Amino acid sequence: MAENHADFIVLGAGPGGYASAFRAADLGRKVVLVDPRTTLGGVCLNEGCIPSKALLHAAEVIRESQEIGAWGIALSKPKVDLDALRAKKDGIVAQLTGGLSGLARRRKVEVVRGTAVFTGENSLDIDGAAWSFDQAVIAVGSAPIQLPGWPEDDRIWDSTAALELREIPKRLTIVGGGIIGLEMATVYSALGAQVTVIELADQIAPGADAEAVRILHAALEQQGITLHTATRVVSVKAMKAALTLTCEGAFEGEIKADAAIQAVGRRSNGPRVKPEAAGVEADERGIIPVDPSCRTNRPHIFAIGDVTGNPMLAHRATHQGHVAAEVATGHAAALDTDLIPSVAYTSPELAWAGMTQAQAEARGIKHKVTSFPWAASGRNLSSGGGDGLTKLVYCPDTHRLLGATLIGNNAGELLAECVVAMEMGATLEDIAFSVHAHPTVSETVAFAAERAMGTLTDL
Ligand code: NAD
Repeated sequence: MAENHADFIVLGAGPGGYASAFRAADLGRKVVLVDPRTTLGGVCLNEGCIPSKALLHAAEVIRESQEIGAWGIALSKPKVDLDALRAKKDGIVAQLTGGLSGLARRRKVEVVRGTAVFTGENSLDIDGAAWSFDQAVIAVGSAPIQLPGWPEDDRIWDSTAALELREIPKRLTIVGGGIIGLEMATVYSALGAQVTVIELADQIAPGADAEAVRILHAALEQQGITLHTATRVVSVKAMKAALTLTCEGAFEGEIKADAAIQAVGRRSNGPRVKPEAAGVEADERGIIPVDPSCRTNRPHIFAIGDVTGNPMLAHRATHQGHVAAEVATGHAAALDTDLIPSVAYTSPELAWAGMTQAQAEARGIKHKVTSFPWAASGRNLSSGGGDGLTKLVYCPDTHRLLGATLIGNNAGELLAECVVAMEMGATLEDIAFSVHAHPTVSETVAFAAERAMGTLTDL
């Protein structure tokens, strides 16, 4: 008999894990939540989504303070106090992690600090203590992929180190032009670094709509960020004076940098919990396959979030966490949607959900596309917004929305309307006949729908 027993145990206290633990507690379960960190919230809250958004807010204010010059308002060049900025970011994180601890206490969720490893079908080791459990949820997330062959050097950062805000390097090279790479480029460029992004694919933000990405690409270049797509780094040398990155592909040559960020994706932390000891299957990348109820091949063990593969996004993990808790407690639940929105919080923001035009073409799905340019949106222009686009992919027979991409200021917030429309099977007519307030940028969604219907008078 183990020293400790858990009715429902959750491994990992990120946005998936704590959501699962809290939902299970709300359903009357006796819950144990295990995490090696001193605070709840996982990567997202401690060193990911939230601190990066705090720095992106600062970057946006700096950028707007420069752009307002064109409106006849001259502000002096912002002076950045790195210690104060870091403290502000850390304060926001502390406020939120403190709030989570309070929520756990009030729900009587027992938080155990430690690293859990399976030792059998119903048993775990947590830092040397033996535990038995009835049901478990694996929610241990992911870690940054490290490129092989790179030297060990303090000037080479992963996303966690980049968010520590150690310094503003004069020249910063970011390898990987996905969401992390582009968000870090946005932050460090506004703070004064000369930023170069090297992306292997032939566009930044691969997977997003090419037309929207062209707008983002142009905007980032306008901000002084150098973007090299279809380019690979073949060697990195750490010299005293600088890092030297040798590139091949569309850009050939050497790039000198005072710091470099690796942002080439994340890898599942699944193997760290030794799932095989519990008979839980994982693939060669450590990803644990689950059914729509988030069950692994062992019916009493669930897996949620990044360990279950792409898209590795916090909001997917949260929804899976609720599903796992509900199914484990005897309720019928499933995450049976492909509609997981993606947002790059760049300036401008890039947001999309459902199918892109290219995906619809590749899958041979009958579709049509309609769009509305933000250059024709009064609210966008009068709020200092630049080039932007709302683009909808829809079924020509039913007029139902199949996908949406928005690029422009606050695109991430505006995307929610399209996600609700897709979840509810709304048609272009439903969107167009819903009265959107004027002037708002949300009108661009209705205008795009009206354009497809042939009733648009604003273009
Ligand atoms: P990513 O998969 O979004 O992007 C990685 C990029 O690196 C890709 O564009 C890929 O083509 C490129 N790449 C791969 N190998 C390369 C190489 N050798 N040289 C140059 N480029 C290379 O991964 P990420 O940006 O590291 O983010 C990790 C995960 O975290 C993703 O799942 C992402 O969605 C998630 N995330 C989400 C948000 C958000 O929702 N706002 C923010 C940060 C991270």
